[in-house]
Amino acid sequence: MKLHELTIEQACGLLNNKEISSVELTRAVLARIEAVDGKIDAYLTVDADGALVQAQAADHRLSTGEATPLTGIPLGIKDLMCTRGLRTTCASKILEDFVPPYDATVITRLKNAGAVIVGKLNMDEFAMGSTTEHSAFQVTRNPWHLDRIPGGSSGGSAAAVAADMCLGALGSDTGGSIRQPASHCGVVGIKPTYGRVSRFGLVAFASSLDQIGPLGKTVADTAIMLEAIAGHDPNDSTSVPEPVPNFSAISGDGLADVVVGIPKTYSSARGLDPQVGAAVERAVKTIESLGARCIDISLPHSDHAVAAYYVIAPCEASSNLARYDGVKYGFRDKAPTDLLQMYRRTRSQGFGSEVQRRIILGTYALSAGYYDAYYGKASQIRTLIKNDFQNAFASCDVIVSPVAPTPAYPIGETIDDPLTMYLSDIFTLSANLAGIPGISVPCGFSDDGLPIGLQIMGRHFNEAMLFKVARQFERAIAIKHKKPPL
Ligand code: GLN
Repeated sequence: MKLHELTIEQACGLLNNKEISSVELTRAVLARIEAVDGKIDAYLTVDADGALVQAQAADHRLSTGEATPLTGIPLGIKDLMCTRGLRTTCASKILEDFVPPYDATVITRLKNAGAVIVGKLNMDEFAMGSTTEHSAFQVTRNPWHLDRIPGGSSGGSAAAVAADMCLGALGSDTGGSIRQPASHCGVVGIKPTYGRVSRFGLVAFASSLDQIGPLGKTVADTAIMLEAIAGHDPNDSTSVPEPVPNFSAISGDGLADVVVGIPKTYSSARGLDPQVGAAVERAVKTIESLGARCIDISLPHSDHAVAAYYVIAPCEASSNLARYDGVKYGFRDKAPTDLLQMYRRTRSQGFGSEVQRRIILGTYALSAGYYDAYYGKASQIRTLIKNDFQNAFASCDVIVSPVAPTPAYPIGETIDDPLTMYLSDIFTLSANLAGIPGISVPCGFSDDGLPIGLQIMGRHFNEAMLFKVARQFERAIAIKHKKPPL
C-alpha cells in the first residue's frame, strides 16, 4: 500500500513500530498533493516547509516514546480555523492576506498531539454554501467525478481526504458542512454536539450553530481526531466541561442493545433521489442484521428546519461579519472619497454574492419591526425541533436518515439557484438547530459511481453511540477500500 493511502490508525501503527518515519509519510502526502491537486483544487495553501519541520519534530517525539495516536500524522485544515503564521482566508477576498497571530484551540490541541499540519483547505466563502463553488479563489472538484461538486462548505476537506492528500482533516458544520461533503466524497465526517469542541479561533459564521469536527477515511480515524480536539476550553464560554470519552476504543460486537429510530417522513421528503432512498433502506437492513431494533419515530417539525435555519444563520452571520469593515484588518478599497464609501466599497468588493445575500437577508430579518416576525418565529421553531428530538430519543438511541437528498450534482447546477441549494440541506440542518451530534458514514454508491452517505444522529454528548453504530456498520458493509479513480 502506498503511504498516502494509509488510514490514521494504520500509519500510527507503522510510525510507532519505526517501520516508517513521519518525514517519509509527510513527503508522500506532499507528493500526492503535487500529483493530483491540479485536478481537484482542494488546497488553498500548502505549507510544505512547515509540515516537514513538524514531521521532524514528530519523529523525534516518536523516538522518545511520548507519542499520541496523531503524532506524525499529516492533516489538512479547513481554511477558517486560525493557524498562527499561516494564511487563513475563509476563501474570501476580504481575508485574502490575513495571517493570524494565534492558533485556534483545535490547532493548539493538534499541535500538542504532534500532528503535522500540511495546509489549508478550500471551502465556500465564510462556510456559506453546500458546494464549495462559493469560494473566492477556486472550485474544488469531487475526486469520484471531476465534473461534480464535492459538497460544502467543507468541500476541500472532504475531497482532500477522499483523494489521499491528507490522512484526515478538520471541517466545520453549521448546517451540514461536515456531513454533506463527507457523504458526497465517500468519507466519514462527524459534527459533534454543540459545545463539545472549542470554537476559539474558528472564524464565526452563525455562532449558535457552528461546530468543528473531523473528516477521515474511517470511523476510527474520526474518533481519534475528535478525541484530540474535544473538551472544555476556558477561551470558549459555550464549550462544555463534559469528560471526553475514549472514543477510539469504542467498538463492541453487534448492536443488540441499540434502538434505531427511523423518521416516518424522510422517505417521502421532497427531492429524495430513489437511489439515495434505496441505499439508506439497505443500510437500515444491515443495521438490523447486526441486532439493532428499528422503530418508526416522528419529527413533526423537521419540515420547517430549512425555513428556520435560513433565518437564524443569516441573522447571526450579518452580525458576525460586521467586523470586516476595511478598518481593522483584511481587504480595503483603495481610493474611497469618504468613510461611508470606504465601508460600502470594501464590503461590496470584498464579499462574494452568496455572503452578501446572507448579510442582506440577516440584516433585514433583524431590523426593527421585523425581529419578532422572523428571528423570533425562527427561534420558536428551533425550540420545537429540539423538543421533537428529545421526545424521539425517549424511545430510541440513534436516528438514521439520508445526509443529502441526491448524490453529488454537476458543478454549476445551483450556482444561480440558491433556493435549490438551501433545500438540499433538509436532512442535516435539524441536528444543528437542536445541537445534537451527527455522523455521515459511506453506505453505497449510485449507478454512476458516486458515493452515498448515511446519517446517524444521537443524544447530546453521546458521540460514543454514533461511533459504535457507525463502526459496526462500516465493518459490515466493507466498502471502505474502494478508491476514487484518479
Ligand atoms: N449549506 C448550509 C449553508 O449554506 C450549511 C453551511 C455550513 O454548515 N457551514 O448555510
